[in-house]
Amino acid sequence: MIQVENIFKRWGSFTALNGVSVSFREGEVVCIIGPSGSGKSTLLRSINHLERHDAGRIVVDGIELDDNIKNIDAVRAEVGMVFQSFNLFSHMTVIDNITLAPRRVRKWSADKAEKVALELLERVGLSAHARKYPNQLSGGQQQRVAIARALAMQPKVMLFDEPTSALDPEMVNEVLLVMRDLASSGMTMLIVTHEMGFAREVADRVIFFDQGNIVEESLEPQQFFSSPSHPRAQAFLKQIK
Ligand code: ATP
Ligand code: MG
Repeated sequence: MIQVENIFKRWGSFTALNGVSVSFREGEVVCIIGPSGSGKSTLLRSINHLERHDAGRIVVDGIELDDNIKNIDAVRAEVGMVFQSFNLFSHMTVIDNITLAPRRVRKWSADKAEKVALELLERVGLSAHARKYPNQLSGGQQQRVAIARALAMQPKVMLFDEPTSALDPEMVNEVLLVMRDLASSGMTMLIVTHEMGFAREVADRVIFFDQGNIVEESLEPQQFFSSPSHPRAQAFLKQIK
């Protein structure tokens, strides 16, 4: 579903992605972990072209991300993204936040977009909040709206960049619960997270980043978390536990 081949991203003399190659299969849930500044966000952002890679190839669902704006738009329509800081439109109600992109990009009627939005709000447990504005909701509720908003586009893959890092501890679980539900529904998900318990539980594969590259990759998350092989992963897990 996603092929990343030898991609590089530099800012001046600093190399944020140093020849990363990885692919993701349909239906796979992959957790990406690693120290601050190791390139996790840059990888996710490159996959929907929020960052432009300097070299290498990224192909999403058969579409290569080059400088062709049509390709970029086509990929973005298939890739949902949820950020640490929610990024909801503050001047719009919850329902308008969710229906905006489907109406504009998918050209859905207002009725259809609203029907889908209400179903999604029910799925994330927020049916009662459709007419509220983001600042009338808690952080956990806002993040669940952000997830519903991304899902409204019916994406083929969802990217999560530390979706619970900005939340008060008591709100983390309600968001993880929604993500767990999504994972078990078969959604393809790439998740940058520091929630090791969650990663251990939902991940089909764990990728450990260090200094702009993948230094360990494991199809056995249980084993990775109990005994990582790479020294950087060992040190990282020891310090985070
Ligand atoms: P964190 O866990 O802190 O979110 P990360 O693994 O997501 O870290 P990235 O955000 O991908 O790390 O950043 C990788 C490196 O690239 C960092 O050293 C960062 O300072 C640098 N970087 C990111 N964006 C830019 C930018 N726009 N200009 C210059 N340097 C940048
Ligand atoms: Mg990051």
